Amino acid sequence: MIFEKVKEFVKTKGVPLYRIAQIRQAVYEKGISDWDEATNLPADLRQALKKEVKLLSFDVVKVEHSKRDIVYKALFKLNDGNKIESVLMKPGKTWSVCVSSQAGCPLGCAFCATGKLGFKRHLTDEEISDQVLFWYQFLRKNNLGERVSNIVFMGMGEPLLNYVNVVKAIENLSCTDYLNIGQRHISVSTSGIADKFYNLAQDLPQVNLALSLHNADNEERTRLMPINRKYDLDTLKEKLEEYIARTGREVFIEYTVIEGENNSPAHVRKLGKWINSIKDNYLLHVNLIACNEAVGKAVATHESSVKKFAAALKAMNINVSIRKSLGSDISAACGQLAAKEGKRK
Ligand code: SF4
Repeated sequence: MIFEKVKEFVKTKGVPLYRIAQIRQAVYEKGISDWDEATNLPADLRQALKKEVKLLSFDVVKVEHSKRDIVYKALFKLNDGNKIESVLMKPGKTWSVCVSSQAGCPLGCAFCATGKLGFKRHLTDEEISDQVLFWYQFLRKNNLGERVSNIVFMGMGEPLLNYVNVVKAIENLSCTDYLNIGQRHISVSTSGIADKFYNLAQDLPQVNLALSLHNADNEERTRLMPINRKYDLDTLKEKLEEYIARTGREVFIEYTVIEGENNSPAHVRKLGKWINSIKDNYLLHVNLIACNEAVGKAVATHESSVKKFAAALKAMNINVSIRKSLGSDISAACGQLAAKEGKRK
């Protein structure tokens, strides 16, 4: 829900203006999932809001959770019938939400279930921010915690191809009157739409940038991620340098370690060499992720293989961490739940 719709409703229905603050309180402080729960409002106003203003711009098809109850995954049906997904996870002490920015994706990365769905359409800013609002309501309803602390654009779609709506959604989500999620707690993960790095640096300099690299060899990366034909490693390097010079912020390099595909000693060397060639590379941080076995043809990567890869990078003076893969029992990698649903149609 875009709160402007509430303001418009109040204005056109002749509702006293002081009700706006009460409605805001019900939605963003109490986290109501239904207008009936807004007990700070009179019954007739609750009924009118129920008829005219939807709290969420999509229907919730289902919510699945992992065995450890630290990952929840939701499937949403948009007004035009397209389906998207979003994940709530607790990798540490706080809750993070992974949001989708497009229904499907045009980029067709070889390892990605969403890519196989093809591109349906861009999400509106409302559809993007409502994914977070939904999880906020979910946390409240299930007594799981007070708030969503972090947001990552790592769900379905390439966020920088839907740039305008993603920026609007982030501005909405970080607005102190609404969910008030600090921009430093929001990360945009891109497959490498390098032309937009500088725009992001200018428009949202506090937001974190993460580049999904997965291979530092041009030919191999193009096979894995066809977008590399347009934005190759030299272009990425140049645009990252511009971004870092403008923001002085750390940039995360995401590298999914895929057994037999990108984890040989030669791959480590190429990755290390590429990173060390970038100006101010002390601001680059590599996150290694073990490949989730449920994705495409890829085989599961053993933890020891990821550790070995990390140690080799460290030996080249590169900042590196191993990220836990959460919730593989509910297909919590990008696009997998919606892809499964798509196949069932
Ligand atoms: S990995 Fe991301 S950019 Fe690539 S196809 Fe999947 S959703 Fe699109």
